Amino acid sequence: MDEFQETALAYYANLPKSKKEEAIEFFRSLDRNGDGKISIQEYKAALTEAGAGATDIAASLGLFKELDNDGNGTLDFDEVMTLFYLMESGRGYSCDGCGAFLKGVYFTCLTCFNSKSNSFDLCCSCCRNNNFNHHHDIADLVDNFVLLHQIRKIVSTSEEPTPDPDQKSSLEQAVKVASTTSSLLDGFFQFAEILGNLTL
Ligand SMILES: [Zn+2]
Ligand SMILES: [Zn+2]
Repeated sequence: MDEFQETALAYYANLPKSKKEEAIEFFRSLDRNGDGKISIQEYKAALTEAGAGATDIAASLGLFKELDNDGNGTLDFDEVMTLFYLMESGRGYSCDGCGAFLKGVYFTCLTCFNSKSNSFDLCCSCCRNNNFNHHHDIADLVDNFVLLHQIRKIVSTSEEPTPDPDQKSSLEQAVKVASTTSSLLDGFFQFAEILGNLTL
């Protein structure tokens, strides 16, 4: 298992119950025949259902291969959780220098990150070789670990965030889970469409 999938599984393991249910529902929505794995046909069917055209589907097959960590031609639950992690975590996934898929540690512009504009992310190679154009005179680039420490500084100087007690009724949760499938498929389509244009 590569480090990227391990990260995704650690993310999944610590999700709240309602979010885990969403993740499981997402897997089930892809697994048409219920055999516990996603074939390339099921992957394509899900994209078609989400409104993808033939060109987009062809372009996003690279994502399927990237997710298929053991290379057996199907996606098991853990491999789909890598997709779920990519879609849900908010992490960067495309290098703004070379367009590569960002699998490991990457650099992000702190100014853009804090201004809530589009994030500006770079693979280590582009960052090192200055292979990028950015609208700032000097991009304020930090790697993921430095970024965490910067956020810690910001949080420690502001008020404590209000905790979200997550006290929704079971009916509300059931409605939420029932309504997530199509929106997750929409998100999956948009995500696959973007990744289809990347260098995988
Ligand atoms: Zn790059
Ligand atoms: Zn920036």
